Amino acid sequence: MDRREFLRGLAAAATLGLTGCPKSGSGKGDTTLPGGDTLAADTRRFDLPPPGSGPTGLVTDPLYKQHVAPGGHVEQPARCEAILTALTAAKLDARLTRIAPRAATETELLLCHDKSYVETVKSDVAAGKTRLSTGDTYLSAQSFDVALHAAGGLFAALDAVVAGAVKNAFCVVRPPGHHAGPQKGMGFCIFSNAALAARYAQTKHKLGRVAIVDWDVHHGNGTQDVFWSDGTVFLFDTHQHPLYPGTGLATEVGAGAGEGTTLNCPFPAGSGRSEILGALEQKFEKAMESFKPELIVVSSGFDSRRDDPLGGFTLTDQDFADMTDVVTRVARRHAQGRVVSTLEGGYNLNGIGLAAAAHVGRLLEG
Ligand SMILES: [Zn+2]
Repeated sequence: MDRREFLRGLAAAATLGLTGCPKSGSGKGDTTLPGGDTLAADTRRFDLPPPGSGPTGLVTDPLYKQHVAPGGHVEQPARCEAILTALTAAKLDARLTRIAPRAATETELLLCHDKSYVETVKSDVAAGKTRLSTGDTYLSAQSFDVALHAAGGLFAALDAVVAGAVKNAFCVVRPPGHHAGPQKGMGFCIFSNAALAARYAQTKHKLGRVAIVDWDVHHGNGTQDVFWSDGTVFLFDTHQHPLYPGTGLATEVGAGAGEGTTLNCPFPAGSGRSEILGALEQKFEKAMESFKPELIVVSSGFDSRRDDPLGGFTLTDQDFADMTDVVTRVARRHAQGRVVSTLEGGYNLNGIGLAAAAHVGRLLEG
């Protein structure tokens, strides 16, 4: 099976909600891809852009490469490298202020996750399991620590944004987070990074209302579960439907105090600029006029870009730039410009780099 065949198979599995971890791979050392490439488990090939200074923060670290995929999984360390390489190629790196991540504490995880689930992740990793027992997320020896730093990377970005050291930030972290809910990791995700960031902003920095924009091609079911009956965190989510994980119907609007603060915009395969940018301009901006967020967190999945092996949307890099403009415009109007964006999905290595550069380029202007 060559790499293309493997990706096609994985995309088909994802459509059916069957994405899972190949059984091969030790999870401890080098990983051989279907095409014969080898991903070294060390950090020597992870070239960080030189530290710059500017209005947008960049969170990343070689540590994020230590969550190692078994044989050829699309959620792979090379995703971070692809984005950083593209930021350098676009000459954006010198304008980005480097922010060092930290590990989230286990107490901080409890802002969104049940203690029993955190213990499950710890014990699964300690037992050497290669798959999370709650769902389709692979594990390797360092996965717990890397996942703590993914959430903690967003915390560090928030600290910098709230302190005014930068006006916004982009976090090139993994594993992704938006499929992880209070009691369950799934869909390549361990901890719910964007949701944790929203709660961290409320508890640490006393921000009252937070909006989360999720434009990953998949529905952010984990984020939705965290804030379903909350009311202080608004989730705006565009995604392909039907597609994994199958949730995110327009009728899913939250409940109780949270009724009306979940806004799902499902679109069929083939959708792109008019649907997704249109929803941002018409539905998100309008909703924010009454919600008035004090911070916007972006679950920035780039698998909604054209030519992604797991998605069927047609967004271009220009579209990601224009979508970013909507977010920064709303943030300037209501949130003193505060935006923290984090990597979710995106599996075409060339595509995610280009889309991320377009996104970051507009954050810099935001
Ligand atoms: Zn996705």
